[in-house]
Amino acid sequence: MSARRKLIAGNWKMNGLKADGLALASDLAGRLKGAGPVAFDMLVCPPFPLLFPVGEAITDSPLALGGQDCAPKTSGAHTGDVAPTMLTDAGCRYVILGHSERRADHGESDAVVKAKAAAALAEGLVAIICVGETEAQRDAGQADAVVAGQLAGSIPEGATADNTVIAYEPVWAIGTGKTATPGDVKAMHAHIRAELDGRIADAAKVRILYGGSVKPGNAAELMAVENVDGALVGGASLKAEDFWGIASAC
Ligand code: PEP
Repeated sequence: MSARRKLIAGNWKMNGLKADGLALASDLAGRLKGAGPVAFDMLVCPPFPLLFPVGEAITDSPLALGGQDCAPKTSGAHTGDVAPTMLTDAGCRYVILGHSERRADHGESDAVVKAKAAAALAEGLVAIICVGETEAQRDAGQADAVVAGQLAGSIPEGATADNTVIAYEPVWAIGTGKTATPGDVKAMHAHIRAELDGRIADAAKVRILYGGSVKPGNAAELMAVENVDGALVGGASLKAEDFWGIASAC
């Protein structure tokens, strides 16, 4: 039995308006309250404009709040960017960094992800650093090397098991309905754990999430895999019943 408490994180991406976000977060907060002690931490990461209202709606709940990105700077002339301190001001404890959609849509390199993670840690946020190979890279037998390179390039100085979470998200499994097999997930998570050793304090205690088309129907199988310490969930985090179903599989 792992000593690592599972983290079930919802990445709402660019979905939902204020009323949707409030309804979803309040529903989850109510379920958490009604459930009593649970075996997992639950986190929602709404779009930036929803952080303050959602944060206020869940103040008295164990449901945690996170951003989907942050700037590598603390303030200043950076139009469109959001500083880590603005996330904590809204009640965030976590921030997702280096998601493959940001790496692809905004050309974020490992160095950029590392700078953002360093800024997040300096602000006291927990950085959820995303890594994962494309289908072509997996087919070419490069998955382990790609992920090792992303870890080496994206994890900042000062990362510990308390302030850093790794999310393994094979790019080809995100939003596609395809999931990695439990065997592939087991092998990759073991590889990630080994790569963390020496790179991050208390590597054995770092939570490593799996992400990529996690649903209530496949969550139990995936969450039972060795070294899988939770899930980063996109599409299925937008319905309270589905997201709760995934968490309940822990
Ligand atoms: C994600 O965006 O991090 C993700 C895993 O999406 P989905 O669950 O929809 O595949």
